[in-house]
Amino acid sequence: MKILFCSPEAAPYAKTGGLADVSGALPGALRELGADCRVVMPLYQSVKKAFTGLKHVTDISFLSGQGVSQGRVYADGPVHFIENDAYFNRDGIYAYANRDFPDNLERFAFFSRACVELAITLGDVDVIHCNDWQTGLIPAYLHALEAKGIKSCYTIHNLAYQGIFDAVLWPLLFLPYDFFRPDLMEFFGNINIMKAGIVFADQVTTVSPSYASEIQTPDFGAGLDGLLRAVSFKLSGIANGIDTVVWDPATDPLIPHSFDKDRLDGKARCKLELQKRFSLEQKPGSPLFGLIGRLVDQKGIDLVIKIMEDLLSRDAQVVVLGTGEKWHEENLRRLAERHPTSLAAFIGFDEALAHVIEAGSDFFLMPSRFEPCGLNQMISMRYGTIPIVTGVGGLRDTVTCLGEGDTPQGVRVKLPAPVQLLHAVDEACALYREDPAAFCRLQKNAMEKNVDWTQSALQYYDMYSKMLNSRERER
Ligand code: ADP
Repeated sequence: MKILFCSPEAAPYAKTGGLADVSGALPGALRELGADCRVVMPLYQSVKKAFTGLKHVTDISFLSGQGVSQGRVYADGPVHFIENDAYFNRDGIYAYANRDFPDNLERFAFFSRACVELAITLGDVDVIHCNDWQTGLIPAYLHALEAKGIKSCYTIHNLAYQGIFDAVLWPLLFLPYDFFRPDLMEFFGNINIMKAGIVFADQVTTVSPSYASEIQTPDFGAGLDGLLRAVSFKLSGIANGIDTVVWDPATDPLIPHSFDKDRLDGKARCKLELQKRFSLEQKPGSPLFGLIGRLVDQKGIDLVIKIMEDLLSRDAQVVVLGTGEKWHEENLRRLAERHPTSLAAFIGFDEALAHVIEAGSDFFLMPSRFEPCGLNQMISMRYGTIPIVTGVGGLRDTVTCLGEGDTPQGVRVKLPAPVQLLHAVDEACALYREDPAAFCRLQKNAMEKNVDWTQSALQYYDMYSKMLNSRERER
């Protein structure tokens, strides 16, 4: 079984969020099951600079909206990179200085068409697995080129980012004009690239079973719920896992002290180091809440900001790491200036610091309004950091909270609202201060929770097998 896993980002090469973690780990788990799974991503400038030993594999060229488009293909083991300097040899992946590149449609149309060309060149690809809007055109190109031997699976990692562009850009896509209609790629007068992926792919998946149901409702469907209900026969949810080698507190080289579920003293020392690093007061009995992620409303950052003064008044501490909406960044900076010994806000993207915060925190705040899967709650559990989570999407599927089962690992925020979040914070503080034995049990449950890729990779493998069986029947 030969799979091309196409993604705009993959760890450790290029990362802006969870998609990179998935693309960095799932293909390896599929290879362990026996699939020949190769990753394809653009050759960004940052990759060129940091990975100098890439091997040239082949060249591709095809007709496009620009005439003839060309690319060189390089590889680092099973990871393939498409080079086109005009599109990718620049500072930034999707944006520079917080502004999306104006030619993103053209860049990722090129990348998508190049992935199809690479699959045709390689000759024996069974399935192209596409991820998010940046690769949504792949199933459309397969359809237009009548490449029937190659099946496609399209995974929605976040329905909030659909890749919507002005209809005047249509000629850039080099697709038949009759694809621009309401049942295919047209969306309220614009081009919707995610819609192309959903319509034309043989299978559509999303990254948790709960999110797969939620996105078929108007509240979570972002305008595509009708289409998603219509394609429910080919839509399923498979929860993500995390890379348990990269995220392992027993061996993690990025944290100051190693620990595991039977040696939690290392975690206590990580907390002291974290407090020292940000000049927070080292008070025994003060719970420390961590938060890492995109500072956007989806993640409930506005709720955290609203309750911050109340939370700190409980003699608790908070460390935030993230980038996102300017007003959230500013509010956090201002709050941190006002509370220098109890709140630290690091505005930026810092992989190593993310490990240090996960290791040193007692709790992790994740009051998302919607959450396709979410990785941070699983990373937190692995580090014995108790996630405080709403009951949406992947958070509902991956964390059992206090009062919900025999082996709880988290604390539930009943609704994404300030009062409910503060209520959950109070529950967490009480647990931490008044019932250390119960808190310890939660930590152990969390650290024992299976969060690796094995189960999910099996489900993807099964799905690919079914797709290949149906191809056999069509032949
Ligand atoms: P998203 O919706 O952004 O994909 P996930 O929880 O699925 O959220 O995954 C986010 C990933 O990105 C995690 O590995 C997290 O640690 C990482 N991450 C997010 N923001 C930052 C940051 N500012 N610095 C370092 N890592 C970050």
